[in-house]
This record gives sequence, structure tokens and C-alpha cells, in this order.
Amino acid sequence: MNGPLWMKKLACPFCGAEFETPRVRQGALRVKDKWTDFGSLHEGICPYHYAITVCPRCLVSARNEEFEKINAAYEPKLMEFSRRARAQPPKTDLGLPWGGEFSAEQAVRRHELAVACHRLRVHSEPGELAGLWLHIVWIWRLAGKPEAEARAMEQALAAYQVFFEKGDKLPDKLGEPGVVYLMGELSRRLGRLREAREYFSKVLSMRNLTQFPNIEALVREQMLVVKDQIEAAPKG
Ligand SMILES: [Zn+2]
Repeated sequence: MNGPLWMKKLACPFCGAEFETPRVRQGALRVKDKWTDFGSLHEGICPYHYAITVCPRCLVSARNEEFEKINAAYEPKLMEFSRRARAQPPKTDLGLPWGGEFSAEQAVRRHELAVACHRLRVHSEPGELAGLWLHIVWIWRLAGKPEAEARAMEQALAAYQVFFEKGDKLPDKLGEPGVVYLMGELSRRLGRLREAREYFSKVLSMRNLTQFPNIEALVREQMLVVKDQIEAAPKG
């Protein structure tokens, strides 16, 4: 297959089905614009649409890298999910079998299925859930669906709040400042301007902020943006 996609052969660790699933060639990605919540607009293919692997037979789903790491022997609830799904008529709204590019709606359903499966894991990681919701935010933004985007942002924000409170391993690239910045930026995008300002000032007071120069630049910029927005907002 030519073009930006290639087909990866996999065997489902839960039902044993062998199947092919589309992956994006990294070299095919061209970033056109970067958003302040870490998502990007790409030229041509959207990589977020292809971030999830769904077993076409039993519907167990996860982020691509996660899917290949799951040890079925340690996941009794997911095994039960797999058994039940196999007993039901096949679903047709997930872009299965593969017949071309995934639509935004199909990509979101695949992500929602991955969220549902992740909640059944023995060790559900808030950071993983937050990342899945953030993908859904970006997919709806690209599809021009602001209301669906806002609903997903609520979920992402809530997941990041849990992640920050409970998360023992914050992503290296973001660190504590990056995660709190993201909570601020999602709050700002949801119109919660004062909450956003609080998150941003929390980030600005963090001692290790200088270790994350990208985050430092972003938070300074977005602090000015949110202050302007608060200034411009009608006084209640
Ligand atoms: Zn399966």
C-alpha cells in the first residue's frame, strides 16, 4: 500500500484473531500548525485518527503501542469483555473491516472504545485516559464540532486533574509544569478564565519551570492571553 498509511499485521492477545490495522508512516507527517494544548494540525492525513488499534473480532481496543503490550493473562475483565463482544453481532461503525480512511466519527468511536477498555484494566492509568480524551478533543476540533470538542475537553480536564493528584509518573516531556499548564489551557478554552489564571500562576511559581523552556514560553504567553480575556469579559 502506498501513501501515508501502511498495514500492520497483529494477533489479538484476547481472542487470537489475526488482523491488519492501519498505521501512519512517521515520515509522511507534516505539521502545519501547533496548538496551545499540544495538538497539531497536519497537512493531509491526521495521525490522531489512526492512534487506536481495535480487534475486529472481539473489539478490545487500545492505543497502538498499548495494544501490543497488553498481557491478556493479567486482564480478567478485558477477557470477559472480549468473550461477550464475540458473542454479539459484529459492529459496523468502527471502520471495520478496513475500507479506506477513518472518518472523525469512526476515529472518536475507536477512542471511546479504548477508553472503555482502559477502564477495565487491572491498573487503569489516569494519564493514559487523559491522553485518549485529549485525542478526542483534537479530532473534534479538526472536524469543526466545537460542542463535541468542549464535552471531550471536560473529560480530558477531569482526567488530568486525577492524573495530577494520583499520577506517580508524569510524562518526561511535560513534567509537573506541563501537566498543570495543560489543565490551565483546557480551563481557558472552556471559558473558565479565572481557574485558568490560577493554574498558570501556579506553573509560573514552580521552581523546576526553567527545566521546561517550551512550557515556560507557552505559559507566559497564555497568561497574557487569559488576562486580556478576563479584562474584556463583561463584569458580572
Ligand atoms: Zn480480539
